[in-house]
Amino acid sequence: MAYHLRPMNPSPRKPLPATAGIPSLSEPWGRTFVRRAGVGLMLAAAVVLLGWQFDVVALRTVLPGANSMKPVAALAFMLAGLALLNRRSVVPVPGLCRLVSAVVGMIGVTSLLADASDLSLPSDYWYPDPEALAIGRIAGRMSELTAIGFALLGLLGVLPDRSPWWRVQQVVALLVLAIAMFALASFGFQGGLRSERSDVTPVAIHTALLFLLAGLGWLASLPPKGLMRVVHAPSLGGLVARRLLLPALLLPSLLGLFARVAGDWLAWTQATVVSALALLSAGALAGLIWWVALLLDRLERERANVVALRDESHTDALTGLPNRRAFDGAIAGLVQGRRHADRSFALLMLDLDRFKDYNDTYGHLAGDEVLRQTAQLLSSALRPGDVPARYGGEEFAVLLPDTEAAEAVRVAERIVQYFRVWSWPGRAVTVSIGTAAAGREEAADALVGRADAALYAAKAAGRDRVMKAAAPLK
Ligand code: GH3
Ligand code: MG
Ligand code: MG
Repeated sequence: MAYHLRPMNPSPRKPLPATAGIPSLSEPWGRTFVRRAGVGLMLAAAVVLLGWQFDVVALRTVLPGANSMKPVAALAFMLAGLALLNRRSVVPVPGLCRLVSAVVGMIGVTSLLADASDLSLPSDYWYPDPEALAIGRIAGRMSELTAIGFALLGLLGVLPDRSPWWRVQQVVALLVLAIAMFALASFGFQGGLRSERSDVTPVAIHTALLFLLAGLGWLASLPPKGLMRVVHAPSLGGLVARRLLLPALLLPSLLGLFARVAGDWLAWTQATVVSALALLSAGALAGLIWWVALLLDRLERERANVVALRDESHTDALTGLPNRRAFDGAIAGLVQGRRHADRSFALLMLDLDRFKDYNDTYGHLAGDEVLRQTAQLLSSALRPGDVPARYGGEEFAVLLPDTEAAEAVRVAERIVQYFRVWSWPGRAVTVSIGTAAAGREEAADALVGRADAALYAAKAAGRDRVMKAAAPLK
């Protein structure tokens, strides 16, 4: 029977170390993202408000000729950002999230009510907006879609922040994302720029982007349950989800925007625009696949390296047997199994007889060869599942899972017999063995101590024999 390294897994639950080149898989992603989303919302809203205050059109519209974000919408985003920061206790005021979210929700709901009832709101005339008036819109009134978005963002913050409600919050946050996606796509494909053709009041591009950020921020702030489990997971799946979901969400909008710019501003023909779109979408898809493939490939190689290094650090270079480190791990696992699942096991401690003498007579190289052959001998004498190891020097240990004391003695006798008949270089080599079956609550050290004592008894009794250890102390 050929010897092969038996599965030695001293610490199966040990996580892989963070590997170079791959972003840390275990950083608290949610916390960081929520903080960034909150700060991003507040900063962007502040910029828009400055645009209104100092009449800088570019700050309100982002793209020339595009729809502006209304001041009241900017205010609502400012509050929504504050709510997110409070949720992640960056701004640690108890109850603040609920309070400001209620205000955000009210802003959305009153705007919808005013639309439905032709009432006017104080915020309608905070700042003059000649562009809105030119197309017959009320100056400071946000679009219906924007108002619904704020109503939902407000709802998110006032819902109870505990177990069954997290699922509802997930759904509401996804609705906010859907609004953002719809607005972004329609911005690209038709109504984004102020135009007579549009039948829905367009949402400003930065309004749509901020809804996207707010929706994702809320999702990230929810516990890693349901849909969010994989996104938070410290695994490759989680990394892919965190890195690729946003680009994938934005892709249709970017393509739409590209189509609009190419068709309206660069005056490309429809055929050219369609071909370019096909090329770009295929390129983007291939790019995403390539990135995932690259990540998987790198991870796989790193993992193989780690496994190889671990195997090497658990293997004795001379004999190829598991080394002392591997033995310590294996015996610890068996001690656990003995304690918790009442699985018996036994230990053999082996020591070659008069090996110093052998070395002195035939030289260390011949001695090394005896140690190598001892490994081969053990692999032929043992059953699959038994674990031989080089304990140190010319001492070996064998772990015998699911083995009682009497059976351990039989295995040891077989090994002694194999030694006697093995054709050794130079002269015969014999071995002494101490055996011990593990006690129910016995620690690894105590068991090794008993087997060792039995081994020395075998030496004292004349070598080339097996001695059974005394029963463990209760
Ligand atoms: P005993 O029967 O009492 O065990 O006698 P012994 O000579 O085997 O015991 P002792 O502990 O005095 O000697 C062990 C010898 O094992 C001494 C050392 O040179 C030899 N040895 C330990 N490791 C190696 C090794 O890796 N290669 C070789 N060739 N010899 C080794
Ligand atoms: Mg020795
Ligand atoms: Mg010896």
